Amino acid sequence: MTFSGNETLLPFSDFIEAFKQTLKRVFYERDDITEFSRWRGFPATVLRDIMATNPFSVAIPKQYGGRGGNTKEILGLLDEASYHSLSLSLMFGINIGLFLGPVVKYARETIKPDIFKRFLEKQNMGGLMITEPGYGSDALNMQTYNERMDSKYHIHGVKHWQGLTGMADYWLMTSRRKLPGGELSRDIDFFITDARHPEQQIEVEEIYNNIGLYPIPYGKNKIDILVPEEYKLHPHTTGLKLMMDLLHRSRFQFPGMAIGFIRRMLDDAIQHTQTRFIRGKPLLALDQVKHQIARIQSAFTISSAMCSRSAGASGLEHNLTMATVEANTMKVYVIELMQESAQTLTQLYGANGYKEESIASKGAIDSRPFQVFEGSNEMLYTQIAEMVMKQMRLLKDMNLASFLKAYKLTQLTAGHFQKLTDFTVDDNMPQRKQVGLGKILSRIISADHVASMADKGFRSDLVRDTMDMIRQEVASLVSSFKYSPRVVPVEEYSHKSSWMDFS
Ligand SMILES: Cc1cc2nc3c(=O)[nH]c(=O)nc-3n(C[C@H](O)[C@H](O)[C@H](O)COP(=O)(O)OP(=O)(O)OC[C@H]3O[C@@H](n4cnc5c(N)ncnc54)[C@H](O)[C@@H]3O)c2cc1C
Repeated sequence: MTFSGNETLLPFSDFIEAFKQTLKRVFYERDDITEFSRWRGFPATVLRDIMATNPFSVAIPKQYGGRGGNTKEILGLLDEASYHSLSLSLMFGINIGLFLGPVVKYARETIKPDIFKRFLEKQNMGGLMITEPGYGSDALNMQTYNERMDSKYHIHGVKHWQGLTGMADYWLMTSRRKLPGGELSRDIDFFITDARHPEQQIEVEEIYNNIGLYPIPYGKNKIDILVPEEYKLHPHTTGLKLMMDLLHRSRFQFPGMAIGFIRRMLDDAIQHTQTRFIRGKPLLALDQVKHQIARIQSAFTISSAMCSRSAGASGLEHNLTMATVEANTMKVYVIELMQESAQTLTQLYGANGYKEESIASKGAIDSRPFQVFEGSNEMLYTQIAEMVMKQMRLLKDMNLASFLKAYKLTQLTAGHFQKLTDFTVDDNMPQRKQVGLGKILSRIISADHVASMADKGFRSDLVRDTMDMIRQEVASLVSSFKYSPRVVPVEEYSHKSSWMDFS
């Protein structure tokens, strides 16, 4: 199929099929992804042809020439891309979730037509700048500031680790307003910067040697720019709430990147273990191998259920500011499933899994930083536990099983976990316990998504096996949650601790 610029009018099935065919051609027929995945950046012709399919049209409203911003289509695009390249899917995720979505929802109408036209016709890209060298997890204390100067804002600071550093045409730039006394406001402001304007050029001070996700450049950015008032986003209430709405929606999109990736790990694992013979039998005949592949298959089912849920619950029309528990659950759990699936496939490949070009070890490296960016998993698990405990306190019910029975995110499956969760949650637990509780909750909430997808007709054998897997995992998480030694690191540990003295 050739692209005419009319792909925004195609039914989605035709649009995604054409996208698939393009990936097949540029990754396996005309070029070789195994070869160029070792280089930094996609070859220019590969990226050109992929972008000619107009992937960002899925995120642009119809009145600006896009396909309308349907979440199911967005997740479908991410799914298809990540089957072949997690980097490509993340590149789309950055543009769609971290730039286009917030622009559609919060930018002034007057500036939208030009931005969307450039995404649709000139393959422009946009990313998000939050992190600073001194302020990552502690982003709310960022030091990049803005000061009003006539009709413009002067923005000054240093940002680092932005995906698409030096490559994006647009940035969504975060900063805090400098108050008359010199201190910085608590709220966060968002501005759209456009690299076409000389006074909005962002200087790249350093390009980082990221160990994976090679096609996406990362680095350190010096910010000293002037942005017109019109390019400031307009939060419905506060900038902090805008930021939570934005980050939560992006976390709801992680399953879209995960599903294609996990499906690929599953397909390759089945294919490899059917054809690799050990002592005259295929590897897949071994019970342990069956178990390992069944776990990847459960990961596939869980991420499918998350996509199904996300498609109906995370569109721009929803205010996700308060959706912390559900958004965090999707992000933390699906990323652990991606990492585990890639590690399992690496193991099943034996020594060949240790080749640089192996899709499994590459997948393990590429999916690793997902546990750190957009909120480290430990921080997000803690937040899940804190939010749920807050509600338990309000209801004056600290028994987990009885709370889960009435909780909207666990109502469908709470009964399956009744015995396991029949304990009282301590109001003053240490953070490591909160992380443990967050893990338990994330699994049970995800089981609810699986049950809800089963009600819609998803195949029952995968659902049954997945429910068993989740129950087994919850059992082991509950057991370690109840085990409470408070081990802390001994920082000065060198005295009387050399084995040489004891042999
Ligand atoms: C591949 C990649 C892509 C990225 N993309 C972007 C981007 O597009 N835009 C952008 O602005 N930034 C981006 N980042 C930056 C990313 O968001 C930050 O790295 C992240 O927020 C963590 O900040 P930090 O690196 O300063 O780590 P720190 O804040 O120093 O945290 C280090 C570690 O401390 C632990 N920790 C921190 N807080 C807690 C807590 N409350 N409880 C328990 N443990 C905790 C965690 O293990 C955490 O990983 C990206 C980073 C990577 C690696």
